[in-house]
Amino acid sequence: MTLAVPQARTAASTAPIPAVVGGSLRVPLVTGEHVDYANLDHAASAPCLTPVRDAVDELLPWYASVHRGAGFASQVSTRVYEQARNALRRFLGARSTDAVVFTRNTTDSLNLLARSLPRHTSVVLFDTEHHAALLPWRGPNVRRVQTPATPAAAALALDEALAATPEGPRLVVLTGASNVTGELWPVAELARIARRHGARVALDAAQLAPHRPINVRTLDVDYVALSGHKLYAPFGAGALVGKADWLQAAEPYLVGGGATRQVTDWGDHLGVAWSAVPERHEAGSPNVVGVHALATACDVLGQQWDAVNAHEQALLRRLRAGLASVPGLRELSLFGSGHDRVGVVSFTVDGQDIGLLAAALAAEYGIGVRDGAFCAHVATTRLLRQAGSDDTRALRASLGLGSTAEHVDRLVHALRTLVADGP
Ligand code: PLP
Repeated sequence: MTLAVPQARTAASTAPIPAVVGGSLRVPLVTGEHVDYANLDHAASAPCLTPVRDAVDELLPWYASVHRGAGFASQVSTRVYEQARNALRRFLGARSTDAVVFTRNTTDSLNLLARSLPRHTSVVLFDTEHHAALLPWRGPNVRRVQTPATPAAAALALDEALAATPEGPRLVVLTGASNVTGELWPVAELARIARRHGARVALDAAQLAPHRPINVRTLDVDYVALSGHKLYAPFGAGALVGKADWLQAAEPYLVGGGATRQVTDWGDHLGVAWSAVPERHEAGSPNVVGVHALATACDVLGQQWDAVNAHEQALLRRLRAGLASVPGLRELSLFGSGHDRVGVVSFTVDGQDIGLLAAALAAEYGIGVRDGAFCAHVATTRLLRQAGSDDTRALRASLGLGSTAEHVDRLVHALRTLVADGP
């Protein structure tokens, strides 16, 4: 029997870049006029790719309980769900032995990994991480290294921190690209140092995965965490991909149906035999639609990296050149303004209230940016101080497949006008 399985690889688009849903959204201005929405907030959540929407549409009539039903729709859903693991493996160049655990998002993935560490694992990380990567690790064996000003100094600092850890399992947590500045971390170089100390490496790829190809074998990392909603799929699905042994040895941190092979009533207690990875960590009815969307997005992006990068980097150059012309604007940077980065730029503007600027950009120009500390309070505060500001908030413009040159030009024009006239 052939199952009518919606294909993950639906989307080899002939368009120069994959198209996104919502490209022609109109939003109201304070004047009552409507304009095209300029979404410059891709780093928060990226709009859905049209092939992803189509794949979801195709699956909607079929979705059913995964792994639990004998009916045709359950078989279709189960096939789709399991095929999605292969899409994630392809997307990340994962080893055939790597587990692919579906989660809600990057935060969920990193918390799962944190709960799965062997006892007495030493964890080393830099302190400018997003809170999702900064906070899940607890206990005396966690070492937060202050992020130095250059990648070479970061390598040295990591080496020293690892040398000071006690014997036993070690984990280094790294971010692929900063959600504050977009700057790329030297993941392969840092992973080499981790290896010298026998440490495993976990990569928070929430911001890197939508912008650059990731290959876990080339980078030599052990775990990758990512979120579908940053990768041009809707909310609700993410993944933790990596070595199965620690995950297999750990108690599930979310318990319930699906995570169990057998539950037996022994009178005074219940005997529970947990499932093997990945089901062990996927308790509850799985999000088959979300996972299919995530997998489709991975397949689409994986086929079009050259176009995606060319689009983003051209817009990023335009954006940074334009921002440099705004009086009093100071860009935030971890490693210096020449460092390679994805399409994310945060900045402060001398004498301006950042919240008011963001509100004026939305109300007067139809531009969506993010203002605040971007769930990376340590990084944002420090970088603002470095830029000579005592504010705790910055503005962030982030680019992606829904961005156009007109959006960038509108932002630059709006900022120049607001700075000259006041919001
Ligand atoms: N890591 C980084 C670098 C991020 O930018 C984000 C979200 O902004 C996260 C982790 C957390 O992602 P999520 O909210 O999808 O769990």
